[in-house]
Amino acid sequence: MSKIMAVNAGSSSLKFQLLKMPEEKMITSGIVERIGMKKSVFSIKVNGEKIEETTSIPNHGNAVNILLQKLIEHNIIEGYDEIAGVGHRVVHGGDKISESVVLDEEKIEYLEGIIDLAPLHLGPNLTGIKAFQKVLPNVKHVGVFDTAFHQTMPEEAYLYAVPYDWFANHKVRKYGFHGTSHKFITQRYAEMMNKEVKDVNLIIAHIGNGASICAVKNGKSIDTSMGFTPLEGIPMGTRSGNIDPAVVEYMMKVKKKSVKEIMNYLNKQSGYLGVSGLSSDSRDLVAASKSGNHQAKLAIDVQAKRITDYIAAYNNYVGGADAIIFTAGIGENAIYTRALIGSKLSSLGVEIDDERNDCRGVEKKISSDKSKIDVYVIPTNEEVMIARDTMALL
Ligand code: ADP
Repeated sequence: MSKIMAVNAGSSSLKFQLLKMPEEKMITSGIVERIGMKKSVFSIKVNGEKIEETTSIPNHGNAVNILLQKLIEHNIIEGYDEIAGVGHRVVHGGDKISESVVLDEEKIEYLEGIIDLAPLHLGPNLTGIKAFQKVLPNVKHVGVFDTAFHQTMPEEAYLYAVPYDWFANHKVRKYGFHGTSHKFITQRYAEMMNKEVKDVNLIIAHIGNGASICAVKNGKSIDTSMGFTPLEGIPMGTRSGNIDPAVVEYMMKVKKKSVKEIMNYLNKQSGYLGVSGLSSDSRDLVAASKSGNHQAKLAIDVQAKRITDYIAAYNNYVGGADAIIFTAGIGENAIYTRALIGSKLSSLGVEIDDERNDCRGVEKKISSDKSKIDVYVIPTNEEVMIARDTMALL
């Protein structure tokens, strides 16, 4: 038996899950929040109960030390050597990393060289990795990349039709994100159907606060809706998804704002929040929409329309999907939104069964037996995917 730590480090937070492998059983999970701020918060689940304390955690190094000490204090581990490996979620692997890798010096140097591709996330990811490596120098640290699964996209899918020099010399291309989730779903679907991964063609709708659609052919990603950054694609909780890039210059003039400010609108004030003017949370919008709020309904409708545009296009691109899969917060739980998306896919012969669709957070077929494409809800589990890849590299 091995214990693997799955870590997701952000600029001021550090999420962790300790898993028992190969059983893939979660032993504990928790989060260190507000790192470097006045009052940091550490919370951990012990025997299913959440224990929270406020303390001072000036940097990621302190966060790692505290978290490991707490594991001992709560009798979850007896010593650090019980942790067989640490898997780190890393937002970007550039164009060189196409699978999970052991994070040696050379890999870290490569990642430091591409920080500009994802400055808000990759920097903090690296800080977290280095902090863990310092405290646990004798175990392998593995990087599991949000972009890796999409490295199988063909040139025609990842290249933007802009001057070729932007790609050749400045790495501008579609990378795609949520790869760990899309890979987990692909493997899980193959397992459920008793098929080999190479024999599945899917369209995966990962719809959470962040959202992306993935076209999987023969078990590999051949296209995805997020692009150079996670801003491209479908509208999300606060991100706009695709717009005409000319809007940026126009709104800069109209509002007398900088590029940075307009980009901030597109990343943080758009999507569900922007259209509804109410909330970025699907639960609020579904409730408001049911009580007659037009903009709340519109926010959901606009997203659903764009999602079905992608699904229809990807169904063509994969040569006919075996199934459409809904996953992540909204995909797993928003019954109304799934039904709405299904109703917009009737020309593909998709038919959602209302009774089957009346479910949350469970693995289930929700299409009718007449549906030309099967539709499933499959809960995602990025931590298990991270732990699996880490185990495989130990
Ligand atoms: P992320 O990981 O990208 O931050 P999640 O995958 O956790 O996001 O998804 C968050 C979204 O899931 C929110 O919009 C939330 O409202 C939605 N969600 C969670 N539970 C439900 C539910 N029961 N009904 C509708 N939406 C839900």
